[in-house]
Amino acid sequence: MASKRTLALEAIGRMNGVSHGGALGHFFGGTAVAGQGDLFEVLDPSTGSVLGKAADATDAELDAAVTSAADVFGDWSRTAPQIRRQILNKVADLIVARADEIAAVECLDSGQCWRFMSKAALRGAENFRFFADRAPSAADGLALPSADHVNYTTRKAIGPVAVITPWNTPFMLSTWKIAPALAAGCTVVHKPAEWSPYSARLLVEIAHEAGLPAGVFNAINGLGETTGKRLTEHPAIKAVAFVGETSTGSAIMRQGAQTLKRVHFELGGKNPVIVFADADLELAVDAAVFMIYSLNGQRCTSSSRLLVQRSIYDTFVEKVAARARNLKVGDPLDPETEVGPLIHPRHFAKVQCYMDIARSDGAQIAAGGAPVADTTGFFFQPTLFTGAEQSMRIAQEEIFGPVLTAIPFDDETDAIAKANDVEYGLAGYVWTSDVGRALRVSDALDVGMVWVNSENVRHLPTPFGGIKSSGIGRDGGDWSFDFYMETKNVALARGTHKIQRLGA
Ligand code: NAD
Repeated sequence: MASKRTLALEAIGRMNGVSHGGALGHFFGGTAVAGQGDLFEVLDPSTGSVLGKAADATDAELDAAVTSAADVFGDWSRTAPQIRRQILNKVADLIVARADEIAAVECLDSGQCWRFMSKAALRGAENFRFFADRAPSAADGLALPSADHVNYTTRKAIGPVAVITPWNTPFMLSTWKIAPALAAGCTVVHKPAEWSPYSARLLVEIAHEAGLPAGVFNAINGLGETTGKRLTEHPAIKAVAFVGETSTGSAIMRQGAQTLKRVHFELGGKNPVIVFADADLELAVDAAVFMIYSLNGQRCTSSSRLLVQRSIYDTFVEKVAARARNLKVGDPLDPETEVGPLIHPRHFAKVQCYMDIARSDGAQIAAGGAPVADTTGFFFQPTLFTGAEQSMRIAQEEIFGPVLTAIPFDDETDAIAKANDVEYGLAGYVWTSDVGRALRVSDALDVGMVWVNSENVRHLPTPFGGIKSSGIGRDGGDWSFDFYMETKNVALARGTHKIQRLGA
């Protein structure tokens, strides 16, 4: 365990060392650049100590990063896709080679647990491999023949794009967005979240070590309201791929309106897990517990509302409460740890305030409900609210912590009504042994993704994304390419049709 911490601290120390005053700067035009802007602190959530400082990009630095991406866009988008495939597969190889370092940095920087981050680093490599192998077919289109014309479509990379990511599982999420952009032929300016910027620096370094030409992939640091805002307003940026809060998505849409940015948003969620009395209840308990308490509850697809059929509600909820009380909370670098700290004192305060909201709305706290004692880190006890109603704030608002709200329902109609009664529509989980019911409920849920008798298992060719306040657009498979590329239709006349002769 000590060696993982040492590995992470050495990597972070090295990254801090490349900039002025020992702070994390930027990486653009193929090199690390000392940041000249204001510095902000990056904390270790498990101790509260300062891991380092990072620099908010100045106007000149932001402009230089975007210009780097714009200058090489033509060359990169015309590079043979087989070469793009080769380089991006090499990125995947190097991620695998440095997976322990990436995971250790991620644990220290974001407070996520080793048991999940060690896999997340490898999934980052898979993301690169998946899109690398599809680079040669990214431009493929359709043949749409009509009586008088042969129409065919092709796709071209849209241009330099901005990728803006949040602090939960930052490395994996970044690869998911950046790999398809690069495979499609776009150049990228990435702005990671200010609370966890280090693993993004590892990614851009690895990409260059793999042979990615200078300027194709750039990473700048900074705050959302300054660097993030200016990036989304920059006229040379053609599209913004954003993962984060719903309110930030709205702000980005406004910021990008003047320059007509294409946007792809993956936003918040308040996802229901619906458990019918006829389900395999042992498995459903496993899945419900996993989907809310893993990743410290800081997961967009977490099942944060537990809807349970009234006849089994008490027994089911007591089983979940027992598990929640038994979860191993502690050092994220310990492979045994199941729940780590929340990312930041500000987020900790937000999660904590829902305890008072729950009490004053009349819900009960069946497990947890308080900070973990005797620690300087931002640890919060895995919490279960019971006796809740769908109208309560704890059933409506995204808490984004290890906090689950349990609500009983009567029948299928009631379950669907309660599940859909939120502003969000990202994911839903249905537990039943009745296939017909599984189909009916899946159909009726207002969400982008449904898992039946399963926790969230990602299959890369499938579409990922939400509806309502949970997002715009889909990731995965060809959906990612569709966002990062423009479609062109070419119509070739067969020479069979008459053209009207005006003015003849
Ligand atoms: P956030 O919106 O606060 O920040 C995300 C990123 O946006 C950060 O890099 C931040 O600096 C930047 N940003 C903030 N204001 C900006 C602005 N005005 N212009 C441009 N950029 C700006 O989100 P967060 O707190 O970092 O992440 C948690 C949220 O992310 C949760 O709501 C969660 O549900 C969501 N999320 C969604 C998905 C999904 O796939 N739907 C996945 C992961 C996280």
